[in-house]
Amino acid sequence: MGTVPIIYGIFTYDMALISPIYSFVRVAAGVLYPTHCVLCDEWLSLEPTLPLCPGCHRKLPLALPAASAEGLLPAGTAAFRIPSPLRYLGTAKKLIWKFKINHDPRAEKVLFHLMRDHLDLILPQLGCFDGVACAPTHRASGWLPDEGPSARIRDGLARFLGCPAVNLLKRIRTVPKQTSLSRAQRLTAASQSIASSPVPLRARILVTDDVTTTGATAAECHRALMAAGARETVFFSLAEGSGS
Ligand SMILES: [Zn+2]
Repeated sequence: MGTVPIIYGIFTYDMALISPIYSFVRVAAGVLYPTHCVLCDEWLSLEPTLPLCPGCHRKLPLALPAASAEGLLPAGTAAFRIPSPLRYLGTAKKLIWKFKINHDPRAEKVLFHLMRDHLDLILPQLGCFDGVACAPTHRASGWLPDEGPSARIRDGLARFLGCPAVNLLKRIRTVPKQTSLSRAQRLTAASQSIASSPVPLRARILVTDDVTTTGATAAECHRALMAAGARETVFFSLAEGSGS
């Protein structure tokens, strides 16, 4: 008799007591350790290099290091493609989702560092670029061509490579949703969907993108840039999904 009210009383009492203490501890820890891991939200040390805890870093599906002359692979259309630092699965998907959909600056920072460090590995094989462009975003993303997280990553990589960031590519046609299509159908669906502004002085352009699956976007960017006067294009995406 009376057990339920007593338990309920203890429960409400405990919660009334614990809740402010818990809030206080969280606020205090937040002041001491303001940066949280982008994936698991764990508090990180005062000056972390990246907002990513070692455990989550280990779980990232990293692709094989590209530190060799074989790092540059022909993409089948006389364009070159640098193998991506990440495979598009597991925690990499979660991280890219946070970057693309939630616009989490921590995800942007982590992904930029992964791309930059990957380029750094193959810097001697890369040669010089006359500009870095980013693959055009889909209109549904709402970003203007020269804005948004992908453009900021392009800008950072251009600074790292010591060449200008250029706003050249735009989508001129909406490509139907590609998940239900075969690779051949995707390549056909994407053809003539991207256009480039004129490219000065037969430039060599690095094109950055977030996820590659079939390589249709890479091929389209290459076709558009070559038609606009480029000498060579090199495509570099953050992650490769199956089908690439
Ligand atoms: Zn973590």
